[in-house]
Amino acid sequence: MGLADQIDELRLIDHHVHSVLSGPIGAAEFELLCTESDQPAPTGTSQLDSQLGFAIRRWCGPVLGLDPGIRSAQDYLAHRNSLPDGYTARTLLQAAGCDQLLVDTGYTANGSLSLAELGEVSGAQVTEVVRLESVAEQVALAGPDAGAFAGRFAEALWQQSASAAAVKSIVAYRAGLDVDPDRPSPREVTEAAGRWLREVAHAGQARLTDRVLLRHVLWAGIDRGLPVQLHTGFGDPDLRLQRSDPALASDFLAVTRTAGTPVVLLHCYPYHRQAGYLAQAYPHVYFDVGLALNYTGARAAAIVAEALELAPFGKLLYSSDAYGLPELVYLGARLWRRAVTEVLGGWVAEGHWTGPDASRVAAMVGRENAERLYRLPPAVAGRARQQ
Ligand SMILES: [Zn+2]
Repeated sequence: MGLADQIDELRLIDHHVHSVLSGPIGAAEFELLCTESDQPAPTGTSQLDSQLGFAIRRWCGPVLGLDPGIRSAQDYLAHRNSLPDGYTARTLLQAAGCDQLLVDTGYTANGSLSLAELGEVSGAQVTEVVRLESVAEQVALAGPDAGAFAGRFAEALWQQSASAAAVKSIVAYRAGLDVDPDRPSPREVTEAAGRWLREVAHAGQARLTDRVLLRHVLWAGIDRGLPVQLHTGFGDPDLRLQRSDPALASDFLAVTRTAGTPVVLLHCYPYHRQAGYLAQAYPHVYFDVGLALNYTGARAAAIVAEALELAPFGKLLYSSDAYGLPELVYLGARLWRRAVTEVLGGWVAEGHWTGPDASRVAAMVGRENAERLYRLPPAVAGRARQQ
């Protein structure tokens, strides 16, 4: 079997993905799910006139029975919404060829499938990734004393992550990755919790932005021992891009190096070369370029090639970072398979790599690195593969 076929048939582990909507989706909502912006496109423009919009039509259209040359996004949308109930989501999710999905439950489009439904519709094993800040916000809403906050949070985190694959931090969004890397003292945590809990009681809602508490929950994630996924790089405009460069987390990575907990840098683009360096420099650092592959469409191969410049091949992971649209789960896999085939196949054709090395690295990045990092049972993958 040639490299392209091997990569096409490789069952992937999507280590960072969100749940999706299974029913028809209106044009305005579909557009908003195709951008990291929280605003509609300016009059006279469309979010679908983009690498992502074109890639959806080109690669998802044929899976749903459309001609690959379909001209308009409106025709695509009308077709995907006219299919029998649940067909679009089921077909796209299954065509992605993933046998495990690690699902970030901290941020989900309204009306998305539950984890059990996602598992049923996709045919994949679904495992949760628990967001640290969300757990802290739930604890704060329960109104503990400031002195009890840290203990309650630790308890809730252990309880909620009992069967999770990983925990995740969005400190890049809430404070920036240049936050003080050290663990705050218990006294600092109690004082900060006192301030925050008074605000929460007053406002009736909780959004964790306090820098001391953000550091506390991040360190609690390190203490928990499951891999800590760290959002880096681009994302919605809640973040400041210049403060999400993973290189800003270098001091944090240096002080957590001996903790025994892996740190997984998510997204990374446009700082994926920095991430590749960090993955080389620190034994506990892993990364992905998920999200970027969907958003860069026809340019995805360039990003895969750059991600493989400095990074040891055992440190890069596959993800779609799909959110809301089942199209994005399929497209992430499709673009990854094409990009990896083009990049690794190119290196083989140029005489840099051997064919067997290319196949081996594709399998490492597509699934084996995730299996090892998250301690996923290979037996589950084997069973799913035979179905
Ligand atoms: Zn993400």
